[in-house]
Amino acid sequence: MSMEERREKLVERLVEKGHITDEKVIRALKTVPRHEFVPKDRKRSSYNDRPLPIGEGQTISAPHMVGILVEKLDLNGDELVLEIGGGSGYNAAVVAELLEDGRVISIERIDELADKARENLEKTGYIDKVSLVVGDGSKGYGEEAPYDRIFLTAGAPALPKPLVEQLKDGGIIVAPVGDMRSQILVVGKKRGNELIQEEWGRCAFVPLIGKHGFKQ
Ligand code: SAM
Repeated sequence: MSMEERREKLVERLVEKGHITDEKVIRALKTVPRHEFVPKDRKRSSYNDRPLPIGEGQTISAPHMVGILVEKLDLNGDELVLEIGGGSGYNAAVVAELLEDGRVISIERIDELADKARENLEKTGYIDKVSLVVGDGSKGYGEEAPYDRIFLTAGAPALPKPLVEQLKDGGIIVAPVGDMRSQILVVGKKRGNELIQEEWGRCAFVPLIGKHGFKQ
């Protein structure tokens, strides 16, 4: 079976299981070649619904989690989006696929991963819509703030205050919040000075390491 067929099948399974319902997100997951974002020796596992190691002790998230998280962002296509935890670049590519005029800024704290993510995004043609920054994303990225959407792909002990501050009025933040092993996916909508929060359910991301995350 070709990679495209495997990807199509995987996404159909995610739809059947009820993980994703938004047609645009379904199309994006069917379009972005996840196998181009995983190390060579993991390619054959690209279309299993599992996180996979990408080096430096980090992972590319499971496809169902990427779908759920991206649906929660409720994108229209023209947003400025900040991702904390660039990893392989895959999640940023899925968001970029949903943006017409918008842009993604993706922060990754590990140099080597950011370089690889940039390479992956170049190879797959998403680099025009994604800027990679190396640094501590728990502090956000003041240079381009405020953002329409912010999402974290690493688990935080609490919603980092700078990120809430860098979110536009009317904006949405999606973040795994909990301990170093297990979190609740929190969806926050900013209304004036208030952040209206909903909890989606349990998830397990690698920890957010930084000033407003866990200490190394
Ligand atoms: N979104 C990624 C993808 O599509 O491959 C998955 C990312 S992985 C689950 C989480 C990433 O967050 C890791 O690459 C890790 O190095 C990064 N990370 C952890 N703490 C960070 C911080 N304070 N700032 C930026 N990146 C951070």
